[in-house]
Amino acid sequence: MPPTTPARVPAKRKRGEGQWKLGHREPLNPNERTKKDDDGLNVRARIENVYAKRGFDSIDPADLRGRMRWWGLYTQRKPGIDGGRTAALEPEELDDSYFMLRVRLDGGALTTEQLRALGEISQTYARDTADVTDRQNIQYHWIDVVDMPAIWKKLEGLGMVTTEACGDTPRVVLGSPVASVSADEVLDPQPAIDEIVERYVGNPEFSNLPRKFKTAISWQQDVAHEINDVSFIGSVHPEHGPGFDVWVGGGLSTNPKIAQRLGAWVPLDEVPDVWAGIIGVFRDYGYRRLRHRARIKFLVADWGVEEFRRVLEDEYLGRKMVDGPAPATPEHPIDHVGVHKQVDGRNYVGVAPASGRVSGTTLVALADAVEKAGSRRVRLTAQQKIVVLDVADGKVDALVARLNTLGLQADPSPWRRATMACTGIEFCKLAIVETKERAIRLVEELEKRLADVVPEHPISIHLNGCPNSCARTQVADIGLKGQIVTDAAGNQVEGFQVHLGGGLGLDSGFGRKLRGLKVTSAELGDYVDRVVRKFAEQRTDGERFAQ
Ligand code: SF4
Repeated sequence: MPPTTPARVPAKRKRGEGQWKLGHREPLNPNERTKKDDDGLNVRARIENVYAKRGFDSIDPADLRGRMRWWGLYTQRKPGIDGGRTAALEPEELDDSYFMLRVRLDGGALTTEQLRALGEISQTYARDTADVTDRQNIQYHWIDVVDMPAIWKKLEGLGMVTTEACGDTPRVVLGSPVASVSADEVLDPQPAIDEIVERYVGNPEFSNLPRKFKTAISWQQDVAHEINDVSFIGSVHPEHGPGFDVWVGGGLSTNPKIAQRLGAWVPLDEVPDVWAGIIGVFRDYGYRRLRHRARIKFLVADWGVEEFRRVLEDEYLGRKMVDGPAPATPEHPIDHVGVHKQVDGRNYVGVAPASGRVSGTTLVALADAVEKAGSRRVRLTAQQKIVVLDVADGKVDALVARLNTLGLQADPSPWRRATMACTGIEFCKLAIVETKERAIRLVEELEKRLADVVPEHPISIHLNGCPNSCARTQVADIGLKGQIVTDAAGNQVEGFQVHLGGGLGLDSGFGRKLRGLKVTSAELGDYVDRVVRKFAEQRTDGERFAQ
């Protein structure tokens, strides 16, 4: 659809936001320059033909710290640099010569064959590392660029990719881990996810966005839709039947925003076109001057949803969308942990690794266990959990017992169930504090200390290594943002700024950041113990933590 009149732009932003549609095509910062110089997708050929043959030192710096992300590769943090020095060092001083590699799994869906291959890649090339991320990816560490051709060969041979797993691109599309099997689902959105990936991932049409673009598409509200750039959530229209309600402009990090409803209802077969229209608005009108103002949430906040919808309809879709009702919000967060009946009478089993940390060895053993239980399908969740589908009644107990020996619990404590952690200082160059191992130790500690406290609903605890909020600081009951704090003896030590009472769903909103409320990492167990006991003592009937 050819563009019509450019969208209204607030007067104060008429100049210098770098919006392509308003004629600002000259790069206004180094990231935009790198993208203009060469499409990030083109780095794949250089990795295979040059860098994999000549090694790390041969990598062009603009590829190393920019374009390699278009293929899921970030340099990981050099070991031994503490968080206090993170901000003071140049990026190259933090770079290790190994990479983090992200495999995108749109909808989080895996066969056991794929799962086993993911585990074997970890064992062979990634020192047995593997994390389940809260965006349904598998993330490796210790990847050597020389191994990338072999890794891609194995992944792509089984239909898995790292294309646009990072970078200013359409990232992995979140989907319900129980799509097509849940009795609560009216319409399976997987065809729309598949079509978006088929048509647009790896497509130069959307390979140079102002910033990353996160999508969630699910019938159920199990994909944190309020904090994605765009979401399509199941909704029944009184006249037209089942379809999807559209949300735009969510995101966390340092300027968090809850997504807003466009008020539009979209049938399943139109989801890919509407998605393409929205990402087109972002590509053309998104702010490219300042990285920290580039996400679509800033555009939506400045325009308002009515104007955003008008531009989408008039300039990108060429038609009006149907108005639609808001979907009902479920009473409790949905994480799919435990044993649940499928619509076909079999079962799905959701298990909780500690803070998403697994290993290649665990993934291989999981694939074996799933096949032994007669299933071939596994899904990852947006809460760092794993769900095994298609388990017959007679196989459930043995599977649950076997997974338990792998550290994958189907009946976890509330603390294990609702604790998440980002990558943190172990591997992330932006991190200020350690998170993953701290979260694992915290869960073990809380399981002992709070054995006598059984919350009616799990109290979510999210540990983040810096303000970027990859593990959703602001929407946890107890959100923890890593920073250096002063301990009782006056020492500068790892700790967290606390955000209390955030949530999604019924409790959608950000936790309160109390200025003085900081806790050292060492005291975290004491702090959570105190807060939870106080809540348990003072709680009124039915009250949730975030209320
Ligand atoms: Fe890294 Fe910060 Fe994201 Fe954690 S929140 S993974 S430390 S960028």
